Amino acid sequence: MATCSYTVPDKNVTGDNFYGALICNQTYIDYFWNTYGFAGNKDYWDDGFGWEDACNTDKPLARTFNACYLLTYSAQDYQNDAYSGAMLNWARRYVRDNCDDLRSLCGDGSAIARSFKGAFVDDRIELYLGFWYSKDVPGRAETLIHESRHQGGKPHNANFPAGSVFGAGKSGADSTWGYEGAWMYGALYLWWFYAQGARTTSALRERARQRGNLVIDNAFATHPGFNI
Ligand SMILES: [Zn+2]
Repeated sequence: MATCSYTVPDKNVTGDNFYGALICNQTYIDYFWNTYGFAGNKDYWDDGFGWEDACNTDKPLARTFNACYLLTYSAQDYQNDAYSGAMLNWARRYVRDNCDDLRSLCGDGSAIARSFKGAFVDDRIELYLGFWYSKDVPGRAETLIHESRHQGGKPHNANFPAGSVFGAGKSGADSTWGYEGAWMYGALYLWWFYAQGARTTSALRERARQRGNLVIDNAFATHPGFNI
C-alpha cells in the first residue's frame, strides 16, 4: 500500500460517511471478515489497506465493509435470503457462497477488480484501487456480486457494443440479459436496491439506478431493451 496513491472522493456523495457510521461495530466487522472471504487474507488487508484501522473510511477495508453492510442489510427482511425470493435478499447469500477468497491490491489501473478461477489457478477475487476510490458504496456491492458471479462459473461471452463506455469491440461484455451473467447480476441488484433498498438514502438509491442504467446501456452485446 505504501506504493499505492489515491485520493478520497466526497464521502457524503459515495455513501462512505453514511455506511461508515454503521460498520464501526465489532460484531459487523467480525461477521463481514468471516463471511465474505477476508479471513485468511490479513496479509493483503494490513499494511495500509486498513486492517489496523477498520473504521477509517478513507481506507480500503472500511470502504469494502461499507459495501458488505449494504449487501447484507438492504432488504427489509434481510434474514430471508432464499434463492426463491428477491435478489435484494439473496445477493448476500450468493456472495457468501461464491466469494471465499477476497484480496486487496493496488492494481495497475486497468481494472477495478478481477476474478481468477480455474483448474490450475488459486480461485480468488482481487480488488484494486478503482474499486474503493472510483465506485460508490452501491457500486462496490455491484462489483462484489459481479465478481462472485464469475466465481460461480459465468465468464463474459461477448464483446462490448458500439459506443460502449467500457470499450467498443473489446471482450468483457455479456451477450444478453438472459445469459444471466455478471453484468446482469450486478444491474439486477442495483435495480432492486433502487426500488426497495432499506437502511440507505434516497440519494444512494438514485445513484444505483444511474449505475444500473449505465451497465444496461453499455455492457450487453444485445441491449436488453429496457432501463431502470
Ligand atoms: Zn466481469
